[in-house]
Amino acid sequence: VMMRSSHSAAMRPWPTSHSKIAEPLPTHNFIGNNFTASSATTWIDVHDPATNNVVTRVPESTDEELKAAVKAAEDAFPGWRDTSILRRQQIMFNFVALIRENWDRLAASITLEQGKTFADARGDVLRGLQVAETACGITTQITGEVLEVAKDMETRNYREPLGVTAAICPFNFPAMIPLWSIPIATITGNTLIIKPSERDPGAAMILAEIAKEAGFPEGVINIIHGTHRAVNFIIDEPAIKAISFVGGNAAGEYIYSRGSANGKRVQANLGAKNHAVVLPGCNRRSTINAITGAAFGAAGQRCMALSTVVLVGNDTQAWVDDLVEAAKQLKTDGGFEDGADLGPVITPKSKDRIEALIASAEEEGANIVLDGRGYAPAKYPNGNFIAPTIIDGVKTHMKCYKEEIFGPVLVVLHAATLEEATKLVNANEYGNGTAIFTNSGPKAAWFQKNIEAGQVGINVPIPVPLPMFSFTGNKKSIAGGGVSTFYGKSGLNFYTQTKTVTSLWKGEEDSDAGKSVNMPTQS
Ligand code: NAD
Repeated sequence: VMMRSSHSAAMRPWPTSHSKIAEPLPTHNFIGNNFTASSATTWIDVHDPATNNVVTRVPESTDEELKAAVKAAEDAFPGWRDTSILRRQQIMFNFVALIRENWDRLAASITLEQGKTFADARGDVLRGLQVAETACGITTQITGEVLEVAKDMETRNYREPLGVTAAICPFNFPAMIPLWSIPIATITGNTLIIKPSERDPGAAMILAEIAKEAGFPEGVINIIHGTHRAVNFIIDEPAIKAISFVGGNAAGEYIYSRGSANGKRVQANLGAKNHAVVLPGCNRRSTINAITGAAFGAAGQRCMALSTVVLVGNDTQAWVDDLVEAAKQLKTDGGFEDGADLGPVITPKSKDRIEALIASAEEEGANIVLDGRGYAPAKYPNGNFIAPTIIDGVKTHMKCYKEEIFGPVLVVLHAATLEEATKLVNANEYGNGTAIFTNSGPKAAWFQKNIEAGQVGINVPIPVPLPMFSFTGNKKSIAGGGVSTFYGKSGLNFYTQTKTVTSLWKGEEDSDAGKSVNMPTQS
């Protein structure tokens, strides 16, 4: 284990392996630019999913600590709002540079706590970093509109910050998802309270340390910890004006409805079941590689994991065989190991749930054509490993089809035609992402038009939009009918409210002749 000089109490050793940490340090709160030990009475152990050794423990932040975070964020708001846009931009430039400098350290913390491979964890950081880089263009993104609407009369609008905002994050992208909020919330002049996932808070803590170093004034970014109680506090606290949530449907639908009922803006990205539709004649090798990578990468724990394949046509056995062959080549191992393609799943409970879903498929009459249950890399007998698993002959009534598996499991269905496949995908209640693999432009165009999914890939397996666009779900994959989506123009709208000012300046000589009691039409 390599140590690095530290300037904050939050710093833990920078891991380069899954070695047991002799004395795990607790995770702190980050309030008003200070890392402070929690006086919580309830703590949650964070485990390395490859070994189940304890890495740190996370507090259920106390009421006083939650309130202190709100106070810090409230106190910071007026000064931060009034900080010039160029100064805020400078701080974002610093933040971007420091993320790059700390890239490997962030990734290592993700591999240790979340389990994904180190290379994949670097991608997790990069996708967040890109949001921060794009936010640096705020000076042109945030400009308002102005028009002379009548003689001497002008209407102009401004995008103003909301005040204190909050982000509640899932476990699967410990850097990217906090970074869907931090750059846009702050550069627009808001202050922010983050509640990272209680399963892997390390990357968020490093981001806080970097933010402080970048020059964010105290209270602009704060981190508190916990689960339901902390979430309920955020939903009910009147000072918090907006909540960004990413996670599963149970939590997200609750947070969306209760937060909205409390008058807050809520954006909530939820669960998924993403389908690949494979048409005869597509580029075979690329398609097999694309699906294999997107189904099993990150052990299937991506909201855009391509977890369901619909093979179109009659002659599909060879496709199943090729998928099995390709999946068998993947190495399931500790995320720090060279050549690891996928790591463990997040918890023993998650492993049990996934294995039970595989068993249910068997009971319901599907064929397990590749069975990764019971696999453990020699070096990691105690980790939450499941090797790639492929289930063929899946029908839409089966449990393994209806539920989001969120593990390294690919389910295979069959359809006679593109129309039938499209109907099948559209009947699924989720609509996050989908991909079609084809060599036909017209068929791709037809699919793109008729498919009900927020993000469509054409020969692209995980079509997560870059930050100049927005992350656009559909149906049950996004709360509130997708009225607000993360990052891009929509993200900027979420974190700002429009103020429209109409002004009239006249000289004495131009005074109005009389008063009018009619509704002014200004025409
Ligand atoms: P989760 O819903 O269990 O947890 C997310 C957050 O909500 C955590 O901070 C957790 O502490 C909190 N939470 C959990 N249950 C709660 C409850 N009942 N009441 C209040 N708060 C609660 O999600 P997860 O397991 O961390 O993440 C995986 C899920 O996230 C998957 O469903 C995945 O599809 C989804 N996800 C979606 C997107 C997207 O953009 N659509 C992106 C990433 C992950």
